[in-house]
Amino acid sequence: MTAYNRFFEDAIKSLHAENRYRVFADLERIAGRFPKAIHRDAGAAKEVDVWCSNDYLGMGQHPLVLSALTQTACAAGSTAGGTRNISGTSHPLVVLERELADLHGKDRALVFTSGFVSNDATLSTLGKLLPDCVMISDEWNHASMIEGIRRAGAEKKIFRHNDMAHLEEILAAQPHDRPKVIAFESVYSMDGDIAPIETIADLAERYNAMTYIDEVHAVGMYGARGGGITERDGLSHRIDIIEGTLAKAFGALGGYIAASAAIVDSIRSYAPGFIFTTALPPAIAAAATASIRHLKVSDAERDLQKARVAETKTALDAAGIPVMPSETHIVPVFVGDPEACKAASDRLLRTHSIYVQPINYPTVPRGTERLRITPTPLHASEDISHLASSLAEVWETLGLAAALPQTLAGPAPAVGVKRLAAHAAGG
Ligand SMILES: *Cc1c(COP(=O)(O)O)cnc(C)c1O
Repeated sequence: MTAYNRFFEDAIKSLHAENRYRVFADLERIAGRFPKAIHRDAGAAKEVDVWCSNDYLGMGQHPLVLSALTQTACAAGSTAGGTRNISGTSHPLVVLERELADLHGKDRALVFTSGFVSNDATLSTLGKLLPDCVMISDEWNHASMIEGIRRAGAEKKIFRHNDMAHLEEILAAQPHDRPKVIAFESVYSMDGDIAPIETIADLAERYNAMTYIDEVHAVGMYGARGGGITERDGLSHRIDIIEGTLAKAFGALGGYIAASAAIVDSIRSYAPGFIFTTALPPAIAAAATASIRHLKVSDAERDLQKARVAETKTALDAAGIPVMPSETHIVPVFVGDPEACKAASDRLLRTHSIYVQPINYPTVPRGTERLRITPTPLHASEDISHLASSLAEVWETLGLAAALPQTLAGPAPAVGVKRLAAHAAGG
């Protein structure tokens, strides 16, 4: 065994050498006091402000969600008891899938154990079911989509991020009747920009392609009922498959697709990543349903979040912190160097009791390393001013740049080429 260990030690060494070694913080979220958490390090524990959670609206501690979770766990137990094939579908999961189909105005929805699995299982199965299919993918797509497309075994084409001329060029080069799937996201979570969904739908129609959108960072948050950017812009009916997560704004766990009955039935019947794994526990399904139902009728969380995001951007600008342009709730702060990014994050935690994870390559292109800040409705104004003054101290102490580089100062970051290379290498 020891002889084999060497390979693993070398694998880890190379990550260290490239500044890509990931360290996970020991954090304990405090229900009822989000965004506060307890951070434990070297035997010491202290309370910190979390500024990078994907529990975007704080629904992970909402009383309606917690009571659905605990009541269902007490009534139905902790596990689904098996795959859906073996144990049937727990009733809370039946209800959840109806809720999701309604949320997106689709015939049906199908729930997976995570958003990652929903992308991987659905895209890989689409590529296998559609004869001689070509998968056309935005270069910034999430790792789960890249993985699904890779496993589809179909031909793959990558278009430059949100570049409609490039997408059209790829589509136009294909025979009209050859099956094509365009896979993209609505909100890109590292830069906070949004895809031109309507143009993509128009191109798909003109060139006879299917459309697959990842709305993971938008569901619960955009649209009058939380149906995402497709709902906000009245475009749900123009997209064939809408994919989302229950684990971010909805504050639970799991992923899903919503689509026509035939598509959902096919994925249900053919995707190994759906079939051969234990279903979500009923309590989690009930928690997700409670969250979705609440966010269908309540704008309070969305409105307050938007206000906090605006307040945070203003406070950071005023403090001389280089906020990257973002159209959404994501507030990326530019650092541009992996070691400096890690050092800034460490200092925030150690000196200021603020937790923000450094975002380095390969999650973002080299040279665009950043802190990705996600204000929620539960961050108070005092938390925001504490964040701004702490960042200012860290920027000053570490001598970080206050200005954005020229390539990032415009509305569309010109980092496409590097990202394209990363995507090609990863997939
Ligand atoms: C987080 C994420 C996923 C995966 O969702 P999980 O439910 O966390 O597995 C998929 N797509 C994008 C764009 C994501 O950021």
